[in-house]
Amino acid sequence: MHHPGNVFVVSAPSGAGKSTLVQRLVSTVPDLVFSISFTTRQPRPGEVDGRDYFYIDDAQFEAMVREGGFVEWVEVYGHRYGTGRDWLNRVLASGQDVLLDIETTGARNLRQAIPDARMIFILPPSAAALEERLRSRGKDSDEQIRIRLEYARHEMELYPAYDFLVLNDDLELAYRRFESIFLAARATRERMAPAAQKILEGF
Ligand code: ADP
Ligand code: 5GP
Repeated sequence: MHHPGNVFVVSAPSGAGKSTLVQRLVSTVPDLVFSISFTTRQPRPGEVDGRDYFYIDDAQFEAMVREGGFVEWVEVYGHRYGTGRDWLNRVLASGQDVLLDIETTGARNLRQAIPDARMIFILPPSAAALEERLRSRGKDSDEQIRIRLEYARHEMELYPAYDFLVLNDDLELAYRRFESIFLAARATRERMAPAAQKILEGF
Protein backbone atom coordinates (compact mmCIF):
# COMPACT_ATOMS: atom_id res chain seq x y z
CA MET A 1 0.00 0.00 0.00
CA HIS A 2 1.83 3.17 -1.14
CA HIS A 3 1.03 6.30 0.85
CA PRO A 4 2.64 9.70 1.36
CA GLY A 5 1.39 10.27 4.95
CA ASN A 6 2.56 8.62 8.18
CA VAL A 7 0.56 5.79 9.72
CA PHE A 8 0.50 5.54 13.52
CA VAL A 9 -0.94 2.60 15.42
CA VAL A 10 -1.78 3.01 19.11
CA SER A 11 -2.54 0.05 21.36
CA ALA A 12 -2.89 -0.40 25.12
CA PRO A 13 -4.66 -2.63 27.59
CA SER A 14 -8.18 -1.27 28.08
CA GLY A 15 -8.15 1.43 30.78
CA ALA A 16 -4.51 2.50 30.31
CA GLY A 17 -5.63 5.93 29.12
CA LYS A 18 -5.40 5.53 25.38
CA SER A 19 -8.68 7.32 24.55
CA THR A 20 -7.73 10.20 26.86
CA LEU A 21 -4.38 10.67 25.13
CA VAL A 22 -5.70 10.10 21.61
CA GLN A 23 -8.62 12.52 21.96
CA ARG A 24 -6.32 15.26 23.20
CA LEU A 25 -3.85 14.56 20.41
CA VAL A 26 -6.36 14.72 17.55
CA SER A 27 -7.81 17.96 18.88
CA THR A 28 -4.32 19.50 19.27
CA VAL A 29 -2.22 18.28 16.34
CA PRO A 30 -3.50 19.49 12.93
CA ASP A 31 -3.84 17.28 9.85
CA LEU A 32 -3.99 14.04 11.81
CA VAL A 33 -6.98 11.87 10.94
CA PHE A 34 -8.37 9.42 13.46
CA SER A 35 -9.28 6.09 11.89
CA ILE A 36 -12.91 5.33 12.66
CA SER A 37 -13.38 1.58 13.05
CA PHE A 38 -16.49 -0.48 12.51
CA THR A 39 -17.82 -2.29 15.58
CA THR A 40 -20.73 -4.51 16.59
CA ARG A 41 -20.68 -3.24 20.19
CA GLN A 42 -23.25 -0.73 21.41
CA PRO A 43 -22.22 2.93 21.76
CA ARG A 44 -21.20 3.94 25.30
CA PRO A 45 -22.85 7.04 26.78
CA GLY A 46 -21.40 10.05 24.98
CA GLU A 47 -20.11 8.13 21.97
CA VAL A 48 -21.26 9.25 18.54
CA ASP A 49 -21.82 7.13 15.41
CA GLY A 50 -19.40 8.20 12.68
CA ARG A 51 -17.09 9.95 15.16
CA ASP A 52 -16.02 7.26 17.64
CA TYR A 53 -17.02 4.21 15.60
CA PHE A 54 -19.36 3.17 12.82
CA TYR A 55 -21.82 1.02 14.76
CA ILE A 56 -23.11 -1.89 12.69
CA ASP A 57 -24.86 -5.18 13.48
CA ASP A 58 -23.50 -8.74 13.18
CA ALA A 59 -25.04 -9.32 9.75
CA GLN A 60 -23.53 -6.12 8.34
CA PHE A 61 -20.14 -7.01 9.82
CA GLU A 62 -20.35 -10.53 8.33
CA ALA A 63 -21.13 -9.08 4.91
CA MET A 64 -18.11 -6.75 5.06
CA VAL A 65 -15.83 -9.64 6.09
CA ARG A 66 -17.09 -11.71 3.13
CA GLU A 67 -16.50 -8.85 0.70
CA GLY A 68 -12.92 -8.29 1.96
CA GLY A 69 -13.95 -4.88 3.28
CA PHE A 70 -11.54 -4.92 6.25
CA VAL A 71 -7.76 -4.38 6.30
CA GLU A 72 -7.87 -6.23 9.61
CA TRP A 73 -10.59 -7.27 12.03
CA VAL A 74 -10.79 -9.08 15.36
CA GLU A 75 -13.25 -10.31 17.94
CA VAL A 76 -12.52 -9.08 21.46
CA TYR A 77 -14.62 -8.65 24.59
CA GLY A 78 -17.46 -10.47 22.82
CA HIS A 79 -17.71 -7.90 20.02
CA ARG A 80 -16.13 -7.49 16.62
CA TYR A 81 -14.02 -4.54 15.51
CA GLY A 82 -12.50 -3.82 12.10
CA THR A 83 -10.63 -1.22 10.06
CA GLY A 84 -12.46 -0.43 6.81
CA ARG A 85 -10.29 -0.88 3.73
CA ASP A 86 -11.92 1.79 1.49
CA TRP A 87 -11.88 4.37 4.23
CA LEU A 88 -8.19 3.85 5.08
CA ASN A 89 -7.12 3.85 1.43
CA ARG A 90 -8.91 7.13 0.81
CA VAL A 91 -7.28 8.88 3.77
CA LEU A 92 -3.82 7.55 2.91
CA ALA A 93 -4.14 8.53 -0.74
CA SER A 94 -4.94 12.09 0.35
CA GLY A 95 -1.50 12.29 2.01
CA GLN A 96 -2.75 12.95 5.53
CA ASP A 97 -1.30 11.30 8.64
CA VAL A 98 -3.62 8.70 10.14
CA LEU A 99 -3.87 7.30 13.64
CA LEU A 100 -5.36 3.88 14.28
CA ASP A 101 -6.56 2.95 17.77
CA ILE A 102 -6.59 -0.85 17.57
CA GLU A 103 -5.74 -3.78 19.81
CA THR A 104 -2.58 -5.88 19.60
CA THR A 105 -3.71 -8.67 17.25
CA GLY A 106 -5.09 -6.21 14.73
CA ALA A 107 -1.95 -4.08 15.07
CA ARG A 108 0.22 -7.05 14.15
CA ASN A 109 -1.91 -7.76 11.09
CA LEU A 110 -1.86 -4.11 10.06
CA ARG A 111 1.92 -4.09 10.19
CA GLN A 112 1.95 -6.80 7.52
CA ALA A 113 -0.11 -4.53 5.24
CA ILE A 114 1.75 -1.32 6.16
CA PRO A 115 5.33 -2.19 7.22
CA ASP A 116 6.41 1.42 7.90
CA ALA A 117 3.55 2.07 10.34
CA ARG A 118 4.84 3.56 13.60
CA MET A 119 3.61 1.40 16.45
CA ILE A 120 2.95 2.99 19.87
CA PHE A 121 2.00 1.14 23.06
CA ILE A 122 0.55 2.93 26.11
CA LEU A 123 1.71 1.41 29.42
CA PRO A 124 -0.37 1.68 32.61
CA PRO A 125 1.78 2.32 35.71
CA SER A 126 0.74 -1.05 37.22
CA ALA A 127 -1.91 -3.79 37.09
CA ALA A 128 -3.59 -2.28 40.17
CA ALA A 129 -3.72 1.19 38.60
CA LEU A 130 -5.25 -0.27 35.46
CA GLU A 131 -8.05 -1.95 37.44
CA GLU A 132 -8.66 1.25 39.38
CA ARG A 133 -8.95 3.27 36.16
CA LEU A 134 -11.38 0.79 34.63
CA ARG A 135 -13.57 0.98 37.75
CA SER A 136 -13.42 4.76 38.08
CA ARG A 137 -14.29 5.23 34.40
CA GLY A 138 -17.62 3.67 35.37
CA LYS A 139 -18.62 2.76 31.82
CA ASP A 140 -18.22 -1.02 31.87
CA SER A 141 -20.06 -3.69 33.88
CA ASP A 142 -18.20 -5.81 36.47
CA GLU A 143 -18.28 -8.66 33.97
CA GLN A 144 -16.80 -6.46 31.21
CA ILE A 145 -14.09 -5.24 33.61
CA ARG A 146 -13.18 -8.83 34.49
CA ILE A 147 -12.89 -9.75 30.79
CA ARG A 148 -10.80 -6.65 30.04
CA LEU A 149 -8.37 -7.35 32.91
CA GLU A 150 -7.90 -10.92 31.72
CA TYR A 151 -7.15 -9.71 28.22
CA ALA A 152 -4.84 -6.97 29.56
CA ARG A 153 -2.19 -9.47 30.57
CA HIS A 154 -2.18 -10.94 27.08
CA GLU A 155 -1.93 -7.45 25.54
CA MET A 156 0.90 -6.40 27.89
CA GLU A 157 2.95 -9.40 26.77
CA LEU A 158 2.91 -8.05 23.21
CA TYR A 159 4.69 -4.76 23.99
CA PRO A 160 7.94 -5.95 22.28
CA ALA A 161 6.22 -5.67 18.89
CA TYR A 162 5.95 -1.85 19.29
CA ASP A 163 8.39 0.92 18.36
CA PHE A 164 7.43 3.35 21.17
CA LEU A 165 6.34 2.63 24.75
CA VAL A 166 4.58 5.57 26.44
CA LEU A 167 4.23 5.27 30.21
CA ASN A 168 0.96 6.88 31.33
CA ASP A 169 1.68 7.66 34.97
CA ASP A 170 1.35 11.43 35.23
CA LEU A 171 -1.10 12.45 32.50
CA GLU A 172 0.68 15.70 31.49
CA LEU A 173 4.05 13.98 31.18
CA ALA A 174 2.49 11.07 29.32
CA TYR A 175 0.82 13.44 26.86
CA ARG A 176 4.11 15.20 26.13
CA ARG A 177 5.83 11.88 25.47
CA PHE A 178 2.98 10.83 23.23
CA GLU A 179 2.68 14.06 21.24
CA SER A 180 6.44 14.25 20.67
CA ILE A 181 6.34 11.01 18.67
CA PHE A 182 3.95 12.58 16.16
CA LEU A 183 5.79 15.88 15.96
CA ALA A 184 9.17 14.18 15.53
CA ALA A 185 7.82 12.04 12.70
CA ARG A 186 6.96 15.25 10.86
CA ALA A 187 10.41 16.72 11.46
CA THR A 188 12.41 14.06 9.61
CA ARG A 189 14.65 15.22 6.76
CA GLU A 190 12.63 13.20 4.29
CA ARG A 191 9.42 14.89 5.33
CA MET A 192 10.89 18.42 5.64
CA ALA A 193 13.19 18.42 2.61
CA PRO A 194 10.68 20.16 0.28
CA ALA A 195 10.20 22.98 2.82
CA ALA A 196 13.95 23.27 3.38
CA GLN A 197 14.53 23.43 -0.38
CA LYS A 198 12.01 26.24 -0.73
CA ILE A 199 13.66 28.24 2.05
CA LEU A 200 17.06 27.65 0.46
CA GLU A 201 15.80 29.03 -2.84
CA GLY A 202 14.97 32.30 -1.10
CA PHE A 203 18.65 32.94 -0.36
P1 ADP B 1 -8.60 3.45 27.43
O1 ADP B 1 -9.05 4.25 26.26
O2 ADP B 1 -7.16 3.06 27.36
O3 ADP B 1 -9.48 2.29 27.73
P2 ADP B 1 -9.36 5.81 29.05
O4 ADP B 1 -8.69 6.91 28.30
O5 ADP B 1 -10.84 5.68 28.93
O6 ADP B 1 -8.64 4.39 28.73
O7 ADP B 1 -8.93 5.97 30.59
C1 ADP B 1 -9.44 5.10 31.58
C2 ADP B 1 -9.74 5.94 32.84
O8 ADP B 1 -8.50 6.37 33.43
C3 ADP B 1 -10.54 7.19 32.54
O9 ADP B 1 -11.45 7.41 33.58
C4 ADP B 1 -9.46 8.28 32.49
O10 ADP B 1 -9.97 9.55 32.85
C5 ADP B 1 -8.44 7.79 33.52
N1 ADP B 1 -7.04 8.18 33.23
C6 ADP B 1 -6.42 8.27 32.01
N2 ADP B 1 -5.12 8.64 32.15
C7 ADP B 1 -4.91 8.80 33.47
C8 ADP B 1 -3.76 9.18 34.26
N3 ADP B 1 -2.55 9.47 33.71
N4 ADP B 1 -3.90 9.22 35.59
C9 ADP B 1 -5.09 8.93 36.16
N5 ADP B 1 -6.22 8.57 35.50
C10 ADP B 1 -6.13 8.50 34.16
P1 5GP C 1 -13.54 -0.30 23.13
O1 5GP C 1 -14.69 -1.27 23.18
O2 5GP C 1 -12.96 -0.05 24.50
O3 5GP C 1 -13.84 0.95 22.36
O4 5GP C 1 -12.39 -1.02 22.29
C1 5GP C 1 -11.95 -2.26 22.67
C2 5GP C 1 -10.65 -2.57 21.98
O5 5GP C 1 -10.84 -2.72 20.56
C3 5GP C 1 -9.61 -1.45 22.13
O6 5GP C 1 -8.37 -2.06 22.48
C4 5GP C 1 -9.53 -0.84 20.75
O7 5GP C 1 -8.23 -0.34 20.49
C5 5GP C 1 -9.82 -2.03 19.88
N1 5GP C 1 -10.28 -1.68 18.54
C6 5GP C 1 -11.12 -0.68 18.17
N2 5GP C 1 -11.30 -0.66 16.85
C7 5GP C 1 -10.55 -1.68 16.35
C8 5GP C 1 -10.30 -2.17 15.02
O8 5GP C 1 -10.79 -1.67 14.01
N3 5GP C 1 -9.46 -3.23 14.92
C9 5GP C 1 -8.87 -3.81 15.99
N4 5GP C 1 -8.05 -4.82 15.77
N5 5GP C 1 -9.09 -3.38 17.23
C10 5GP C 1 -9.91 -2.33 17.42
